[in-house]
Amino acid sequence: IRPLKVPITLPSGITYDQPTGLFINGEFVNSQQHKTFEVVNPSTEQEITHVYEAREEDVDVAIAAAKRAFESNWSTADPEFRARCLYKLADLVEEHSEILAGIESLDNGKSLLCSRADVSLASKYLRSCGGWADKLYGRTIDTGSSHFSYTRREPLGVCAQIIPWNFPLLMWSWKIGPALATGNTVVLKPAEATPLSALYASQLVNQAGIPAGVVNILPGFGKMIGERMCTHKDVKKVAFTGSTATGRHIMRTASDTIKKVTLELGGKSPNIVFADADLQRAVRNIAFGIFYNSGEVCCAGSRVYVQDTVYEEVLQKFKDFAESLKVGNPFEEGVFQGAQTSQMQIDKILDYVQVGKGEGARVVTGGERLGDRGYFVKPTIFADVTEDMRVVKEEIFGPVVTVSKFSTVDEVIEMANDSQYGLAAGIHTKDVNKAIDVSHRVKAGTVWINTYNDFHQNVPFGGFGQSGIGREMGAESFDNYTQVKAVRLSI
Ligand code: NAD
Repeated sequence: IRPLKVPITLPSGITYDQPTGLFINGEFVNSQQHKTFEVVNPSTEQEITHVYEAREEDVDVAIAAAKRAFESNWSTADPEFRARCLYKLADLVEEHSEILAGIESLDNGKSLLCSRADVSLASKYLRSCGGWADKLYGRTIDTGSSHFSYTRREPLGVCAQIIPWNFPLLMWSWKIGPALATGNTVVLKPAEATPLSALYASQLVNQAGIPAGVVNILPGFGKMIGERMCTHKDVKKVAFTGSTATGRHIMRTASDTIKKVTLELGGKSPNIVFADADLQRAVRNIAFGIFYNSGEVCCAGSRVYVQDTVYEEVLQKFKDFAESLKVGNPFEEGVFQGAQTSQMQIDKILDYVQVGKGEGARVVTGGERLGDRGYFVKPTIFADVTEDMRVVKEEIFGPVVTVSKFSTVDEVIEMANDSQYGLAAGIHTKDVNKAIDVSHRVKAGTVWINTYNDFHQNVPFGGFGQSGIGREMGAESFDNYTQVKAVRLSI
């Protein structure tokens, strides 16, 4: 039997106690079968620790705890109390930011620069959710008769939340923030590759005064416990972020009991550079759009479209910029791009590089692994691509981008919209009329103009098409965690 906490020294020099148990009803516990799984550092390919693995019987216990917490106090608590808990949690995340950022870089492989940005946005978003907790009003409806009608926004109940490995702590905050603000309780499964930050943050959940059972964290494998989480009769909603294939499966699984489902899925987002853009700035943005977070970003600008008159100039500048980025040890000063998160992921990325070459795309830079230890990939640019190539159509989820040429606005809109996805798009131009016109015609849940991967806690994020259902962050996120009750009273 392994301990429920292990001391870990981060490469940044900080030593801390890492919880390794399931977090159920406010306590860290062994899984009932005492099974554990290995957590690997993607930068060294060495074991960090083992954590306990939840199985179906643990899911049942966690859901029962969440149901009790929902019914006994949280759903009926004074919203001002829920607000104070979330404010406190936001403060604690901020206070523990260096440890949390270090855990994230250790576990996921991303550079400290990216991890610090994640922790900062997680804390801001939790605070924003606290602010909304006591301001989620219903409406009164004047029906012009002697009847008085009004609506209430009521919580749903126990929510199952399943998150991916690319933004473990940020996705934890995007999921629990709006659920808790609106009076729901949660059972959250972090990705098997990256369970550490959500477990560490569970201690902060306790310290914030959030009652036992409101948040439950189950490290484990989606294929093993996902089904139980999505079919259990006491789960009223499933919120999922991850691949479109798994999203499709979850939607089917949850349909038997008509659970509410929100999905934040994959993308293949276009990033368009017009000839009249500030090219230096545009190049920075397209590089940031694809290489940030090692390209493991659902809304990565992975299809770049450059207007023909500046194509060669932009391609050269983009190549120079990509080659200047420091890739390597996520804890090293100045490193922009760390490791890919898993063996599976680096294999997939390198496979796609071969696919692209086989399809006739030209490697402008990169296209290979870096070093012989750790999952590092050179920033990779493909040019001379055609729109039917798999590297242009499919989500690669790594630092690999295709660059295509266009001449007119209509042509680039057609190319940009020729995708099953619709998560985000980027537009680079100094012409405000063109920027607005294109932003309205492009099919995407978020459009960034002269910027990219630019998030704010009060701005909603989510997909068109097969990129998902529902919105996270912003006022819209609370719609996904409340149901409207209409009350009609005869006076
Ligand atoms: P995934 O979608 O399978 O995993 C995401 C989460 O879903 C994990 O927590 C996983 O345990 C869980 N899961 C897996 N199968 C499940 C099931 N049957 N029921 C319930 N939960 C389940 O993604 P992956 O396999 O880790 O990665 C595959 C590809 O997905 C990646 O290469 C990448 O292209 C893409 N991806 C996209 C995003 C995104 O945000 N768009 C995030 C992660 C991965």
